[in-house]
Amino acid sequence: MRAFEVPAYGIRGALLGLGAAWREVRARGADGVDAASRAALGEALACTALLAGALGLRATVSLQVRRHGAPGLLFAECTEAGTLRGLVRPGDGLADAVLALTIERAGQRQQAQVPFERDGVAAALAAHFARSENLPTQWRIALDDERAAAILVQQSSAPEDEAGAALALAALGDAALHESAEALLGQVFGDADVRLYPERPLRFACSCSRERVLAALRGIDPAELEGAPGAALEVACECCGARYAVEPAALSAGPADERHQRAP
Ligand SMILES: [Zn+2]
Repeated sequence: MRAFEVPAYGIRGALLGLGAAWREVRARGADGVDAASRAALGEALACTALLAGALGLRATVSLQVRRHGAPGLLFAECTEAGTLRGLVRPGDGLADAVLALTIERAGQRQQAQVPFERDGVAAALAAHFARSENLPTQWRIALDDERAAAILVQQSSAPEDEAGAALALAALGDAALHESAEALLGQVFGDADVRLYPERPLRFACSCSRERVLAALRGIDPAELEGAPGAALEVACECCGARYAVEPAALSAGPADERHQRAP
């Protein structure tokens, strides 16, 4: 991922190229789902990475798509450390869902609820930035099961050169997105002076932990947890597949009490 700025046009943006990291997120978080769901996860993941890239080094961006009262359908995250993870659940599409965008930067957390549009995650976010943040946003994402390439362009301040700033990313073919950063930016911005920042490597990693699993399970009515009463639960993280064995006693005790437990 590389951030860039085009000062004459008041533009900032980011470029993304993912291979192994996308394959790993897909293999772990989109196992057994249909092609459209995999593509929705890839698009959401590309959007989180591009937004984190355009915001700078200390931003963590995550997206969740859910329907009211139902478990999440889709989740994607790019952390400030450059780790990616995500999951998509098989379902009947994302229509009528709501998208929550969370940005954590310099210890501050902002969340926006974005109405989901039929054209997908990127279109819904672009409409949100134009409407709520007055930040015209364009994306182009080229994605298959093996690799993803994308560009984000945001009009972050008024352009000095109005004519030059009228961009048409939609005209870019998928092949152009896989070209080098210099070649792609040359196609989009011509001779304009572009500041291109150093490459930030991205990799798959999951931030799940036993503590987080316990905290999530404590929020669930015990009657709704699967498994025989009193038996240990096995809980798998849907982003990475890590398995956690949880004794029922660990759920009734707070985190500080856990180490003092004794067998009955
Ligand atoms: Zn995990």
